[in-house]
Amino acid sequence: MTGVVYKSTGSWYTVKTDSGAFYECRIKGKFRIKGIKSTNPVAVGDKVKFEIELIGDETIGIISEIEDRKNYIIRKSVNLSKQTHIIAANLDHVFLIITLNNPVTHTIFIDRFLATAEAYDIPTVLLFNKMDSYGREESAEVRYLIDLYQNVGYTCIGISAKTGRNVDQVRELMLDKTSMFSGHSGVGKSTLINKLEPSLSIKTAEISEQHLQGQHTTTFAEMFDLSFDARIIDTPGIKGFGMVDMDKDEIGDYFPEFFRIKNNCKFNNCLHLGEPKCAVKEALEKDEVSWSRYRSYVQMVTGQDDTYRMDNYGK
Ligand code: GDP
Ligand code: ZN
Repeated sequence: MTGVVYKSTGSWYTVKTDSGAFYECRIKGKFRIKGIKSTNPVAVGDKVKFEIELIGDETIGIISEIEDRKNYIIRKSVNLSKQTHIIAANLDHVFLIITLNNPVTHTIFIDRFLATAEAYDIPTVLLFNKMDSYGREESAEVRYLIDLYQNVGYTCIGISAKTGRNVDQVRELMLDKTSMFSGHSGVGKSTLINKLEPSLSIKTAEISEQHLQGQHTTTFAEMFDLSFDARIIDTPGIKGFGMVDMDKDEIGDYFPEFFRIKNNCKFNNCLHLGEPKCAVKEALEKDEVSWSRYRSYVQMVTGQDDTYRMDNYGK
């Protein structure tokens, strides 16, 4: 049988089959995916193959195969072992919820998030929430940001999770897809999910972190079906993506507007930091690339923004 992992506890996996039945599954023996060394071989969102086994009068599934992932997000444990934990796999897109204040979402945070999502190969949709609470100046600022990020190529929507403004547009984008919601604590994630699906009561309580004798700290995600043919992956206790280790010279590739023109730079290893005949710098002077994006890029390349590392996300 084949199905999708909806929940995992580390030793048990809840798998939903194509016909809609749920099975509790286990992995037999050692099971490693080649290429990735992680503390969990199977993650929420994984498509798996399993065989039914009868143990006493209990039916359990034994996972025998994992389909290649189209993408996955990880988290590195903070202790010395530096083990990788796969949070979720096969996301269709992630919604980044942004507010101008209460809380403030800085552009460096947005840009770091977007670059990380590009590195993970996950499309991002930007949702500017709490539009109902903004005055004229803040509304103009949101319009400016929407314009900026749309020009880069991202879908942007101004919404109000509170009043329901444009929530239909979000729902439409979610149809037939697996989504994740991210953003600083307080931007309105729970409010939006409640608006999308009032009957769903996602556990908002922080998952208790298991301390396995100092080995690693584990947090597990869970997938939920919504009533309108959409799935969401909830990651309680995980405040966002883990950091991806990006080399200096690949960060520019995760800024799509830089990537599009980088072949026009004189040097093919151009870091766009002041090299002669740099297409990114020229586009910047012509206002075709935004200064705020460029500033974030420089901060990421030169590593001068430790306060906004993804690790500190939402804390
Ligand atoms: P979360 O931490 O991202 O899940 O944020 P919550 O959904 O708990 O929302 C944090 C606060 O922002 C709550 O007091 C919400 O009522 C408020 N909030 C959420 N969405 C909106 C909105 O669209 N407009 C306004 N004015 N407040 C909102
Ligand atoms: Zn360049």
